[in-house]
Amino acid sequence: DTADYQAADGRHHLHPFTDFKSLRSRGTRVITRAQGIYLWDSEGHKMLDAMAGLWCVNLGYGREELAQAAYTQMQALPYYNSFFQTTTQPAIKLAEKLAEVSPESLNHAFFTGSGSESNDTIIRMVRRYWQLLEQPQKTVIISRNNAYHGSTVAATSLGGMRYMHDQNSLAIEDFVHIDQPYWFGEGGGRPVEAFGLAVAQQLESKILELGVNRVAAFIAEPVQGAGGVIIPPASYWPEIQRICDHYGILLIADEVICGFGRLGAWFGSDHFGIRPDLMTIAKGLSSGYLPIGGVLVGDRVAGVLIDQGGEFAHGFTYSGHPTTAAVALKNLEILQREQIIETVAAQTAPYLEAAWGKLGEHPLVGEARSLGLLGAIELVKDKQSRIRFDDKGSAGALCRDICFDNGLVMRAVGDTMVISPPLVITTAEIDELVEKASRCLDKTLAAINDGKLS
Ligand code: PLP
Repeated sequence: DTADYQAADGRHHLHPFTDFKSLRSRGTRVITRAQGIYLWDSEGHKMLDAMAGLWCVNLGYGREELAQAAYTQMQALPYYNSFFQTTTQPAIKLAEKLAEVSPESLNHAFFTGSGSESNDTIIRMVRRYWQLLEQPQKTVIISRNNAYHGSTVAATSLGGMRYMHDQNSLAIEDFVHIDQPYWFGEGGGRPVEAFGLAVAQQLESKILELGVNRVAAFIAEPVQGAGGVIIPPASYWPEIQRICDHYGILLIADEVICGFGRLGAWFGSDHFGIRPDLMTIAKGLSSGYLPIGGVLVGDRVAGVLIDQGGEFAHGFTYSGHPTTAAVALKNLEILQREQIIETVAAQTAPYLEAAWGKLGEHPLVGEARSLGLLGAIELVKDKQSRIRFDDKGSAGALCRDICFDNGLVMRAVGDTMVISPPLVITTAEIDELVEKASRCLDKTLAAINDGKLS
């Protein structure tokens, strides 16, 4: 069976972010079922999913209540839209609930089908906002090198992943990038907090270079996820907030990964004390059970759009989809009822920090870091000097494949191994995760010593 599926997959299915040719020769892994934090493939292998899918299955797999919410809503009203003068009850209730749980001023929700669509929506909203304030020349959004904000043309441009830009002659105009607060990779031995401050101050330099009259907004994730779980120094966010306030620049928090409990608070912005004007949400909003995203809009922007904007000519067929909204609403109810975010903050995040931190002692690891239930380890060629492997990315890919073959799903970002387990992971399961990771690091080191780096 598996071989048949693999053959058909190779013939007909183009996977996202995948080297099609190498996948054909290796064969795909077909995932068939999941429960809690575990996955099974079509050959019966069990794997601990330390990535919660793609950073999204926050409640873990197999939540009957979410399936039931979808079923009940589909029977009553599977679809209707929120265009023009209509909407549906789940969309209204979800918008209301999001206003309750999000930072103070974010009282308005615009729904989409994904994180990428949400960031596209933000770009259009931000431009419209400044146009309505009679400053249409404010079109530049400043983002960060190596940031991931999605895969549409605009979201790719907004992001700072050069290898994505290079494939399609992007970025499109009016997106510029400053450095990320990646101390391990780019700190150059400077004191951590001084580095954090200096990188934040690049925002000010960039605003002055471009002219404040051209800059519309700054966007960043509270903790950069897909770029390699880059946890900013404590000095970083207060300085970014100060600069945005000082120049009147809109501050956008992309909370697609950090939102809904990942850092032990409802949002990464709550953890760092950020006061965003707009927020991107997706993934954990429905724990990935159905595709839904959104933009949470603060009173500053919403006030102008509502009072002066007329029709905002933007929207998606699935904006406010009643079934996805019903599932997201149930997901948020469960997070609250089971006090999952409180448990992350009080128990599992500190436990992970201690257990994961010990991987820093491994001879292959230059740094092990975590915040909330996001973690990373940096693979290095020489532990003392923290020198990295010459062919960046091949040690990470080797380690990822060894993990997969040994029942652990970790992701490699270059030579940075990252985790983002379901928020419901227990302390015993964290022990299992770390023990598996440690064994896989041993095997990776042995394979490197055997000359297996490509
Ligand atoms: N923003 C961030 C921070 C993300 O991590 C992602 C996806 O990984 C996106 C946006 C894009 O979300 P989607 O894949 O739902 O379009």
